[in-house]
Amino acid sequence: MNPIRAIRGMNDILPQDSYLWQHLEKVCSDLLDAYGYREIRLPVVEQTQLFSRAIGEVTDIVEKEMYSFEDRNGDGLTLRPEGTAGCVRAFNQHGMAGTQQKLWYAGPMFRHERPQLGRQRQFHQVGVEVFGTASADVEAELIVLCARLWRSLGLDSAVTLELNSLGSNEDRARYREALVAYLSEHRDQLDEDSQRRLDSNPLRILDSKSEQTQALLAEAPSLPDFLDEESQAHFAQLTALLDAAGVSYRLNPRLVRGLDYYNRTVFEWVTDALGAQGTVCAGGRYDGLVEQLGGKPNPAAGFAMGLERLVLLMQELKVAPAAPGQADVYLVAVGEGAALAGFALGESLRDSLPGLRLQVHSGGGSFKSQMKKADRSGAQLALVLGENELAERTVGFKPLRGGEQRSVSQDALEEELKHFFEHEEH
Ligand code: ATP
Ligand code: MG
Repeated sequence: MNPIRAIRGMNDILPQDSYLWQHLEKVCSDLLDAYGYREIRLPVVEQTQLFSRAIGEVTDIVEKEMYSFEDRNGDGLTLRPEGTAGCVRAFNQHGMAGTQQKLWYAGPMFRHERPQLGRQRQFHQVGVEVFGTASADVEAELIVLCARLWRSLGLDSAVTLELNSLGSNEDRARYREALVAYLSEHRDQLDEDSQRRLDSNPLRILDSKSEQTQALLAEAPSLPDFLDEESQAHFAQLTALLDAAGVSYRLNPRLVRGLDYYNRTVFEWVTDALGAQGTVCAGGRYDGLVEQLGGKPNPAAGFAMGLERLVLLMQELKVAPAAPGQADVYLVAVGEGAALAGFALGESLRDSLPGLRLQVHSGGGSFKSQMKKADRSGAQLALVLGENELAERTVGFKPLRGGEQRSVSQDALEEELKHFFEHEEH
């Protein structure tokens, strides 16, 4: 029989990489906690119509990327392709309006795309959403939070911020008209996708990867020229706050997001170190979405970052912390009596030294074979129990990175271990 393999684009994260993920997730959650954001945990499966309503029918995600299916009751369900829709659904469902909410979530998302480096079908995001405040200091905080995160991870030299404003719905409607009028005159010069979008979702044409289309866009009406006074003031407040915080950015008038729900601020953190998959984090303001999903009008803004791309970037820039060994201490016990005593000694050390990374050998075997495993575990220290040690109530204390084995009384072991690891850290 052929062995069963994982689904294309849905990857295992193996132990040699998972520590890096844990590192990234911990840096994120500590930082979010420090800024006063609280975690919300959301289901991975939602009603399909949540996403078609939130993201927009004429988007890549809803048109061709969703994992949608009927469950046994015949309900139309979808594996979430992103987290904002579910977060807004929860916000409405649990009556969270009325007070400012600063929330974050983390977890897998699903999109049926062509898998390549930095693009999976199951991928992971950390997302952050702020509800209840319309002013631009919200976006500014989201952005400085990201900037601090890049510094904490050692990625700040490799990512840059792109910024734009989509204005109000009315601004966008006027811009849309002007853009369609301009592009309709050159319809035959547009790529096939953009021709289709000209009728359905013309703003997405700004996003086109086609060079010919981009050349055409150079002469097209520009979105910033269509902003009303309020949107201009909002954007000016945002850039003033970023300037004051010393965060630099590039204004990109053609930056629109793939999801329909944004208004006013949109931003992306991009890198050129990952080839075509250059966006590591994207977000903006989405004041209309809460109402669109059935709640009372409530302003909101947020972003999501792609963890696979951040892990790749950490590896690419060689800023990833070194992989820790499997254990710091490896307990070797040779012979039946020693194995019994070693097992109990292991537990008593775990009682007295919480946090000690101790692996007790399992499976028996000779001294030599056990020491080999101790070496391979990456531990700094082996503790050795044999018949002599049992009889003398001692333990062999053997530093594995140079140093002689010596005999330590079992009563003094705890102190010796503390001393050894205090020393190691310096
Ligand atoms: P892209 O243009 O790369 O397809 P997107 O605009 O579709 O990205 P968003 O929906 O804004 O992406 O998601 C936020 C972030 O999640 C992206 O910036 C990216 O880092 C990450 N991301 C999105 N899709 C994938 C994927 N299929 N695999 C890995 N990461 C992804
Ligand atoms: Mg995409």
